[in-house]
Amino acid sequence: LIPVPSDIEVAMAQTPKNIGDLASEIGLLPSEVDLYGKKKAKVSLNVLDRLKDLPSGGYVVVAGITPTPLGEGKSTTTIGLCQALGAHLKKNVFACVRQPSQGPTFGIKGGAAGGGYSQVIPMDEFNLHLTGDIHAITAANNLLAAQIDARRFHELTQTDSALFNRLVPTKKGKRVFSEIQLGRLTKLGIDKVDPNALTEEEIGRFARLDIDPETITWQRVLDTNDRYLRKVTVGQSPTEKGHTRQCQFDITVASEIMAVLALTSDLADMRQRLGKMVVASNTKGEPITADDLGVSGALAVLMKDAIRPNLMQTLEGTPVFVHAGPFANIAHGNSSILADKIALKLVGKEGFVVTEAGFGADIGMEKFFNIKCRYSGLVPNAVVLVATVRALKMHGGGPSVTAGLPLPSAYTDENLELLEKGTSNLKKQISNATKFGVPVVVAINSFATDTQSELTLVRKIAKEAGAFDAVICSHWAEGGRGATRLGEAVIEASEQKADFKFLYNLELPLDEKIRIIAREIYGADDIELSEVAQQRLALYTKQGFSALPICMAKTHLSLTSDPSKKGAPTGFTLPIRDVRASVGAGFIYPLVGTMSTMPGLPTRPCFYDIDLDLETEEVQGLF
Ligand code: ADP
Repeated sequence: LIPVPSDIEVAMAQTPKNIGDLASEIGLLPSEVDLYGKKKAKVSLNVLDRLKDLPSGGYVVVAGITPTPLGEGKSTTTIGLCQALGAHLKKNVFACVRQPSQGPTFGIKGGAAGGGYSQVIPMDEFNLHLTGDIHAITAANNLLAAQIDARRFHELTQTDSALFNRLVPTKKGKRVFSEIQLGRLTKLGIDKVDPNALTEEEIGRFARLDIDPETITWQRVLDTNDRYLRKVTVGQSPTEKGHTRQCQFDITVASEIMAVLALTSDLADMRQRLGKMVVASNTKGEPITADDLGVSGALAVLMKDAIRPNLMQTLEGTPVFVHAGPFANIAHGNSSILADKIALKLVGKEGFVVTEAGFGADIGMEKFFNIKCRYSGLVPNAVVLVATVRALKMHGGGPSVTAGLPLPSAYTDENLELLEKGTSNLKKQISNATKFGVPVVVAINSFATDTQSELTLVRKIAKEAGAFDAVICSHWAEGGRGATRLGEAVIEASEQKADFKFLYNLELPLDEKIRIIAREIYGADDIELSEVAQQRLALYTKQGFSALPICMAKTHLSLTSDPSKKGAPTGFTLPIRDVRASVGAGFIYPLVGTMSTMPGLPTRPCFYDIDLDLETEEVQGLF
């Protein structure tokens, strides 16, 4: 239809096929599919074992230029490209996308199912609870947080032997250690495992974790933009006997458990990663893990369903995996390795898996290559880099834009000068992608107000800057049909010989790895580490975590740490405020500038427009 109706109207107008039918169409056995109603299903990891000897399909990652706060259509392009490849070019295809957080859905950005005639459906279920994976993460994360404070409280209020007697249960009058406790004894260098033979001093060492409260990095989480939880004091009830502590909430999608889900390879690996998560240090400066707190088995139980990818479909009936949803600015920004791996087997040798890396290529794509591909061992065949005329004009100096308000005329009237100036950002992101040795196809996501001269100019500049191809697409307005040229270009790019390489070696010192990302990808001259950041890097190095890759937490609105700096700035120093370690997920996590791990609500949040039609029970106002 012209004009294109709202995202939710388009999505509601299409009846999805029964998800069980889609599952059998793509070669899943009934025993591998658990239906969650008629439109969503969870897929068993056993598929990987069944198909392990089959060849995999082509692997394509969709990234973008530095966006405006409105989003430039990366999800829309991921879905449009899959509709083109599957429904029009007759290839086996799978889209792999993240599950959206309810923070932005109700806050500033709206949903993430794509838009117009390129969407995942049903988009309301996609954007809301889906099959509960994010809730499971919140539950697991907060169980661990509760145990950290409860364990400290019990240690602070009980004698050594009282604590010991409560921690070690007895069976037929004999004390029995759990497997975790046996492990802890070994870690403490106590090899006598007969509890009755432990000395007073050993009892003390065994019973106490001695968590240093100043070093607790594990935070409680919530999947809501709630700025008032950025700093809180816990333990204020008299029952906690004055043992209060200042801490904070993070948004669930920035949590380490979300990253574990996205990076894990199977159930056993997930159980191990959950156990390895470091939550604090003890008073001797040694790391305290979820295993030490005895909680990792329970975390694995809470996460056992979440580990299975969720099957949904596009408006044109092609399959989609929705699995894991780490933010790209304050987490690693990529959907799960498991979903990509299963999809690659299901599409077969001639097929394609299109996976999306969040926000600009400087963050989502860099982390896709340096973190996700490092853990998965998968080698991508092509990058699709999404660009829009409006974002390029913003990089050329156009006025700022606000969600919900009409775009200023600089964006709706032809302005080739502003546009050309802003292509500095496109050129930089193309060069960022080519640093990894993978061919880049630029997808120019056209808007109704773009002129032909503007679109052609972007195409010309992209090709001159080293893109393998640059294609003007209209999948938002036309569905898959509007991205068939993009599909053909992607197929051609995937046939090129790629020479995939990582940006840095893991053996380099942590600060050096951070410096390489800042210089090579952001264009900085150098980094500046705060005193806290330096101390943390020294601690993590001493604790033996220096060989981990880096996950920068940086604004997505600029290549620098300052969201107002547009284009492709040079000659700046990147400030690193703090550093955290996500040892279970497997990365070190520097916080750049003022980046917060809990977003807030704007003056006019998206939920002002959201309501329920009480007669039809249809959701209204999601976009
Ligand atoms: P990103 O993944 O880059 O954040 P999305 O794909 O979620 O961006 O798109 C953001 C919003 O922009 C959605 O509401 C979508 O409907 C809209 N949009 C995307 N492409 C177009 C287009 N070509 N014309 C009009 N609106 C678009």
